[in-house]
Amino acid sequence: MLKVLVSGACGKMGREVCKAILSDPEVKLTGAVDVVAKGADIGEIVQLQPLNILIRDNLKEALKKSDAEIMVDFTHPDAVMNNIITALESGVHVVVGTTGIDEKDLKRIAELCKTYRANAVIAPNFAIGAVLMMKMAKIASKVMDDVEIIELHHPEKADSPSGTAMKTAEIIGENMNSNPKTGKEAVENVRGGCYKKVRIHSVRLPGLVAHQKVIFGGKGQTLTISHDSIDRSSFMPGVMLSIKKVKEIKGLTYGLESILSI
Ligand code: NAP
Repeated sequence: MLKVLVSGACGKMGREVCKAILSDPEVKLTGAVDVVAKGADIGEIVQLQPLNILIRDNLKEALKKSDAEIMVDFTHPDAVMNNIITALESGVHVVVGTTGIDEKDLKRIAELCKTYRANAVIAPNFAIGAVLMMKMAKIASKVMDDVEIIELHHPEKADSPSGTAMKTAEIIGENMNSNPKTGKEAVENVRGGCYKKVRIHSVRLPGLVAHQKVIFGGKGQTLTISHDSIDRSSFMPGVMLSIKKVKEIKGLTYGLESILSI
């Protein structure tokens, strides 16, 4: 059975991941880390029976005590790099959904994987539908020159734009018209922000979970590719698949598409 520690275990995603692990016979939850609820039992936090797995706030110690082979991280963009470094240096494989990891960080993670012979799966979006949305956007970008992305999330989201919007822009940007004309902005930033030649608009509202529309424009037509995660359970099949594969896939794997082979 794969022994897994969840970092950010008390968060919205972390709690969902703990529940998914606890209901899978191939995987065992052996540790839980968070900066909140230190000393509480993770079983009670996720509203199941007590498990005698207490929340710790020191990742290094928790990795040791839990004897975990894999760390799953859903914490905060400011914390994620330190957590990844701590786990890899301890020879623990990582599955990371936390956003805010840039190209420079990815290079560093790939080097650490080599040095410590531990593997990393990092995905800005673990929902299979979102991976397909990006794949379809890539196909469209080969024949349509103009695009804008609208990403919509719950208001507690720590960063903007979303990691998914940035990854989509990285995938399709090379095929797009550079620096779209914006005209005069009577209201500052009303035309969104530009990343990799793609304009992105971030919406934050209660009631939303994680949504994205990639809108291509052409002569006399538009094409909208849209994905909605209406519940955090949408991310769990991708997270669980990554947990089961991370020991086999050497080095750094960025994006769920590599694991799904699509
Ligand atoms: P959340 O509800 O705020 O949960 C994050 C948890 O981690 C909180 O309990 C937070 O405590 C804790 N935390 C912060 N720093 C920590 C540290 N150094 N060590 C341990 N725990 C720490 O956020 P969420 O909605 O679950 O999202 C977490 C991350 O996952 C975000 O970056 C989000 O964008 C990303 N995400 C990714 C996917 C995907 O498919 N890849 C899907 C959804 C979300 P405090 O509340 O005290 O800060």
